[in-house]
Amino acid sequence: MVRTENVHKSFGHVQVLRGIDVTVPRGNVCVVLGPSGSGKSTLLRCINHLEKIDSGRIWVDGNLIGYRQKGDKLYELHDKDVAAQRREIGMVFQRFNLFPHMCALENVVEAPTQVKGQTKAQAWRRGMELLSRVGLADKAGNYPSQLSGGQQQRVAIARALAMDPKLMLFDEPTSALDPELVGDVLDAMKDLARSGMTMVVVTHEIGFAREVGDQLIFMDGGVVVESGHPREVLTNPQHPRTRDFLSKVL
Ligand code: ATP
Ligand code: MG
Repeated sequence: MVRTENVHKSFGHVQVLRGIDVTVPRGNVCVVLGPSGSGKSTLLRCINHLEKIDSGRIWVDGNLIGYRQKGDKLYELHDKDVAAQRREIGMVFQRFNLFPHMCALENVVEAPTQVKGQTKAQAWRRGMELLSRVGLADKAGNYPSQLSGGQQQRVAIARALAMDPKLMLFDEPTSALDPELVGDVLDAMKDLARSGMTMVVVTHEIGFAREVGDQLIFMDGGVVVESGHPREVLTNPQHPRTRDFLSKVL
């Protein structure tokens, strides 16, 4: 579903990604771990073309992201084609970025009605289903300011799902939450993982990685230092940098 091939990305003189090769099969959950500044967020942002890569290639569901290939040459896609690719990829960030002037349900139905042209009735029915799925049917009319951080984050997940993405990217979705709110968000994510969604999740929630992760990649300094099944990497890390990092977070 996701394949990155030798992806490089620099900001000025700083090489942030230095040859990333990652493959995430359909329906798999890939957990990305690594110290601050290792390039995790940049990798996610490159996957949905919020950042343009310097070299390498990224495919999502067989589509080359951001480019069209003709012979050996790559041509940049037009904005509207990039937007179409991005619609297939849901993203949830550390900071819940809900529209503050819309209630939970309006947040969820905004994109499907505006972008996908769903009727209000269709979108509202589906929006309520999605809010129920993340345990928030009774909060549909609440504005973000009337929701806890964990509830806002679950609305953000429902909002991303409303576009029927093929892939979901999560960038530290629970790290801005009070500890007692983390569990409900992780439960919503685990439920999604078990439903067969393909997910790339940057998180330091080791329990989540163990429970639903199919693959764990450990990044440091813009490279994948080690990858494998979460249970293997977590219990028997091979690389000293992985061991050092895990000794700090476990
Ligand atoms: P964290 O765990 O703190 O979120 P991260 O692994 O997600 O870290 P990135 O956010 O991908 O790391 O950043 C990797 C490096 O790229 C950092 O050195 C950061 O300062 C740099 N960087 C990221 N985005 C930009 C940008 N838009 N302009 C310049 N430098 C950037
Ligand atoms: Mg980050």
